[in-house]
Amino acid sequence: MSSALASLPSYEEAAAIVSARAAELACVAQTERVGLHEAAGRILAVPIRTDHEMPPFARSTRDGYAVRAEDANRYEWMEVAGSTRTGDAPAPESLIKGTAWEIMTGAAVPPGADAVAMLEHVEAEADVIRLVSPRKLEVGENIVLAGAEARTGDEIVPAGTWMGAAQIGAAAACGYAELEVFCKPRVMILTTGDELVAVTEKPGPGQIRNSNAPMLTALVEQFGGHAVTMPAIGDSAEALDKALYVTAAADMVIFSGGISAGRFDLVEPALERLGAKFHFTGARIQPGKPVVFGEIPRGDVSQPVFGLPGNPISSTATFLLFAAPVLAALAGRRGSLPRWVLAHLERGVKGNPGLTRFVPAHCEAGGGVQSVETHGSGDIAAFARANCFLMVPESAKWLEAGEMVRTLQF
Ligand code: AMP
Ligand code: MG
Repeated sequence: MSSALASLPSYEEAAAIVSARAAELACVAQTERVGLHEAAGRILAVPIRTDHEMPPFARSTRDGYAVRAEDANRYEWMEVAGSTRTGDAPAPESLIKGTAWEIMTGAAVPPGADAVAMLEHVEAEADVIRLVSPRKLEVGENIVLAGAEARTGDEIVPAGTWMGAAQIGAAAACGYAELEVFCKPRVMILTTGDELVAVTEKPGPGQIRNSNAPMLTALVEQFGGHAVTMPAIGDSAEALDKALYVTAAADMVIFSGGISAGRFDLVEPALERLGAKFHFTGARIQPGKPVVFGEIPRGDVSQPVFGLPGNPISSTATFLLFAAPVLAALAGRRGSLPRWVLAHLERGVKGNPGLTRFVPAHCEAGGGVQSVETHGSGDIAAFARANCFLMVPESAKWLEAGEMVRTLQF
């Protein structure tokens, strides 16, 4: 390994720096109240607790007959003494020995009954039923006892949870019409490059459309941020200084492009003029080697700033690896990122000893992963066929098909 390369942190070292800083930055998030219907995708700030026993009454999980298991297991005809439909109050009296009670899924089991015989498992005549031999009923079968799922006051969803469908449902069941969630951190997205034109424009000779601005906006939103996306900035010190001036109020800044070793890679010097301190300027990864992580002093707070390489595949990889964990922490999310998913490699992939590779890939529903062939990190057409990166460790020359690899889904 060359000495220039050896002076850069490995992927693991860079990730450790990021996760330590993310943990320190985590406590600054403010909170707001939102309606339950707006809470999907937000991060819960105050735990959801249940205001009642769950379930509130012994609930039948089947349509059938509530019985004493001991009675039913004798296979004698049992009189059907009454019926409880879903929504009816529980029967006031204890079930008389030797009788059965008609019951619906979700209805309250009468006191005294200790099992529910499924409709399909009994024979019925006029107003008597009996269990079909040789079926046997266990005590407790097809009944969820009151409070078995949760007791009054129990924490159902902890603070820091990303609110998905299951958590929204739980909040509703617990009587929350509104939720206290963390405010979304404001993330300024600054794309740089003289070659960039807006999506709505037809690129002239030597120009390309600014695909990173919408792509990074999507990533920021996906990881719980509020993206503030600026028009592309030209490759000049003046343009960068002007753009940085308006970023003062942001919680985090993300640059794309302008951080390599070229003559017009002016982002780092512009950050230095603001007094930024760098945690790393480069890491032993491919793609994304020039990636920059630093902090800009803003009064008594420190504003995290990332410089991501301009190539779309490099931008996405470095965002997911380094910017997303900091963003998620600022957003109040529990648990650290990136979250790796193991998958079987479908086809061998080349390593690049000395650099940890992150190869655009496609994960199948069955758990297999296959690299996507590209013409380099600028190949957005190939990248559009990817839904994850697969990781090739720094030491590996080659990974064989069939090996388990780490994947990072997006
Ligand atoms: P840079 O990191 O500025 O050296 O850019 C590396 C490559 O990424 C160049 O081919 C750029 O044209 C391309 N690139 C930079 N910024 C963007 C962008 N916002 N959208 C699409 N491609 C970009
Ligand atoms: Mg550039």
